[in-house]
Amino acid sequence: MIRSLLTATVACALLATAAHAQDVATAAALRDKALLDRTAWDITEDLTTTIGPRLVGSPAMTRAKDWGVAKLKALGFTNVKVEEFAKPSWTRGAESAELVAPYPLKLAIVGLGRTPPTPAGGIEAEAVVFRTYAELIAASEGSLKGKIAVITQPMVRAQDGAGYGVAGISRRTGPVEAAKRGAVALLIRSISTSDSTVPHTGVTAFGPDVLTIPSAAMGVPEAEQLERLAAKGPLRIKLNLASTVDAGDVAWNISGEIKGSTKPDEVIIAGGHLDSWDVGTGALDDATGVAITAAAAKLIGDLPKHPKRTIRVVMWGSEESGGSSEAYLAAHKDELAKIVLAGESDTGADRIYSLQLPKGAATHPTMQAAARVLTPLKIYLDQAPAAHAGSDVEGLEGAGVPVINLNQDASRYFDYHHTADDTLNKVDPSQLAQNVAAWASFLYLTADSDIDFRTLGATAPAPHAN
Ligand SMILES: [Zn+2]
Repeated sequence: MIRSLLTATVACALLATAAHAQDVATAAALRDKALLDRTAWDITEDLTTTIGPRLVGSPAMTRAKDWGVAKLKALGFTNVKVEEFAKPSWTRGAESAELVAPYPLKLAIVGLGRTPPTPAGGIEAEAVVFRTYAELIAASEGSLKGKIAVITQPMVRAQDGAGYGVAGISRRTGPVEAAKRGAVALLIRSISTSDSTVPHTGVTAFGPDVLTIPSAAMGVPEAEQLERLAAKGPLRIKLNLASTVDAGDVAWNISGEIKGSTKPDEVIIAGGHLDSWDVGTGALDDATGVAITAAAAKLIGDLPKHPKRTIRVVMWGSEESGGSSEAYLAAHKDELAKIVLAGESDTGADRIYSLQLPKGAATHPTMQAAARVLTPLKIYLDQAPAAHAGSDVEGLEGAGVPVINLNQDASRYFDYHHTADDTLNKVDPSQLAQNVAAWASFLYLTADSDIDFRTLGATAPAPHAN
């Protein structure tokens, strides 16, 4: 009796080990196939060329929605869905800026996303330069009355993009803080790691209850020029921004599935965002994120047998000025417990260098196997748990859905981010393929497992470092 029980236990363990070994072999084969696969490149090329810039509410975004549906179907995804939500749109108009005194100089600028327009004819005023955001905050209320505030705080280049959050505050809340101090407009140094005159846009604080002012970003050399000039004497600047808002507009989250073979109700979500700013073709932000995750899932869909769980690719419809995350959470609140894991690719297309898992998962045998499959791609398993997995999945994350980060090298990303230079020629095909290889092998192993990340997180000891 005991012997037969033992034999059965050993047989089960052997079967499990054999299944595990088969999964690891399949994941490794997917990885190697992805490195030679052109699908992600073709998707990126098609989206950026056929559709072009994809500002929410623009006619191009409607074309992008139809493109997304057709692309998912053509790639073999099933259960393709379009989920509409309300999203007021904003459309850029004519924009210009110039230094008026001490001498005339045209400034290459771009209005911040969602900025209000200047009055017709523009605003001309004395400019006050702050070399950091903190200096602006230190200025007293009323001290900028009638003036144009200028913030020239630089952004630090870092592999993990950490400089963005720090410098980005000038753009996100600078206009509101400058308005509080009486300023009539704000000009910022682009949130950029480049030395180019090409300015970077990006969303600023907006909404019916937000007291803000017309705001724009200039290129790095102009910002440095204004800093030097301000040290020598007074400056006058003229700024002209036109834009319009349509409160009645809509946007869409689009999704398609590689249906699970034995547990199709359990879902793993991966995706990138379909919308972009209007100034470039949004190649790095975020056509490649859409392409990487769709190409990875397609490779899995092409396998003779699908993994146990469903992989759902979401093309998020309004990341840049927000909306997709909340809309998705609201539409899927009854399904949350069945969403096993979520992740987003939204830092361009340079190589992935690390994997971060939900709390407690790093020691799980399947995740250890995943780490081994990723090692030849020069990706390490970071012991720190994943957090802030992307703005489109933050609603899910906040509602308790476990998330991952496949962290991309952001060293180069913020040279082009939100500019007219975010174009296809910045995408390196071999690094793009490395991304697909990582997502394909990781998604496969997770989808063909029974891992319950929530349970692992609940019982995990606190992480420690030696
Ligand atoms: Zn993005």
